[in-house]
Amino acid sequence: MENLVLKNATFFDSIQGKMVPGKDITIEGTKITNISNSDSTDLNDTNKEIDLSEKFIFPGFIDCHVHLESSSEVDWAKELMRKKQGAEYYVAYNNSLRHLRTGFTTLRDCGGADWGSPLKHSINNGTLVGPNLYVAQKPISQWGNQEFFGPRYLAKFVEEGRVLAGKNGVIEAVRDRKTKGSDFIKTMTSGGVLHGQESQLERTLWKSEELEEMVTEAHRLGMKVASHAHSTNGIQHAVDAGVDSVEHGSIVSEDSLEEMKTKGIFLVPTQTSKFNDKPELMKQLPPEIQQKTNLVDNAMIEHHKVAVQKNVKIACGTDAGVPGNPHGTSHLEIISYVKDLGMNEIRALQSATSIASELIGNKLIGSIKEGNLADLVILEKNPLNNISVLSDMSNYHAVVKSGMIVVKKGRLFLN
Ligand SMILES: [Zn+2]
Repeated sequence: MENLVLKNATFFDSIQGKMVPGKDITIEGTKITNISNSDSTDLNDTNKEIDLSEKFIFPGFIDCHVHLESSSEVDWAKELMRKKQGAEYYVAYNNSLRHLRTGFTTLRDCGGADWGSPLKHSINNGTLVGPNLYVAQKPISQWGNQEFFGPRYLAKFVEEGRVLAGKNGVIEAVRDRKTKGSDFIKTMTSGGVLHGQESQLERTLWKSEELEEMVTEAHRLGMKVASHAHSTNGIQHAVDAGVDSVEHGSIVSEDSLEEMKTKGIFLVPTQTSKFNDKPELMKQLPPEIQQKTNLVDNAMIEHHKVAVQKNVKIACGTDAGVPGNPHGTSHLEIISYVKDLGMNEIRALQSATSIASELIGNKLIGSIKEGNLADLVILEKNPLNNISVLSDMSNYHAVVKSGMIVVKKGRLFLN
């Protein structure tokens, strides 16, 4: 197989936080094998050259919070009525390609059924072309809350994630996820916004000893723990137990943020899950859910601004797939960090590259380095000068996944 040489490249060094001009990047198979000054690369017949003068190369973007089995229909019941049992694989794969098309070469699926591990392996062994997947599969639910009698979709979700009470029940559940191929554990330490009118945000059902045991057992087995938490007490509960990431973190207190900094806990903001900038969709929600949604949406912006000021580690995550939050629009999350939260462009792009790879725990993604996977986004315009260019699809010149050019000028090529 011929090597690919990206000539005259200007790339984003996500670790140092700066653009590096005048380099040739050699790709052999799935990896970057050489980065050298443009005038010093040995060219031979086995190399295929692509001149990238005046283009801007970024590490493939990472979304740390998606739900690939759902497709963002506001009326989730409608989506479920159309879905055939067993179809989750195809729905999830198709949704993963929407992300790949827009430069997201790695996705962390934060809870679904057990299609995640087989789909991930099918991509890893080359049966399918798709983004790198990290999957939680069935979450470990707060069994005992009233959500079981809430919306149908949620009852299914909660029932599937049921565990027995007490430390042993939690240990058993973590080992069950490990056996079934989950990469990390997803749990909840607060109620949810779209989880129905009965779901109280402040409700956190785990006893501290149960949650601490979950984290200990997961870490012992090499798995991280991501906790969904909106309410102040739910977030603090997760932080006390030493989870690896707080998902949503809408009403996070300054004390929790300080402790997150000390313990190295990541915030995954899911800003694009907000409805208050989507009035047409908001109208489709029941009034009591609109009220809860408004409260959380406003809190999310204010509290996450503080997280940015305090320099808490923020990893890009969208909640794509939940109602009103379509797959393939994750670049809006990066833009919102700059426009809504006051982050600078460098840090916003690091949140979707080097910082996200740190949360996932894979140093071979999220940065352009010799030895790393050749996952790249090649852009016409530099988002460090104007972050909004990320929402212009004509700006996406190409996407490279594991050394293969999978997108050219917005079109997918999967062979
Ligand atoms: Zn989620």
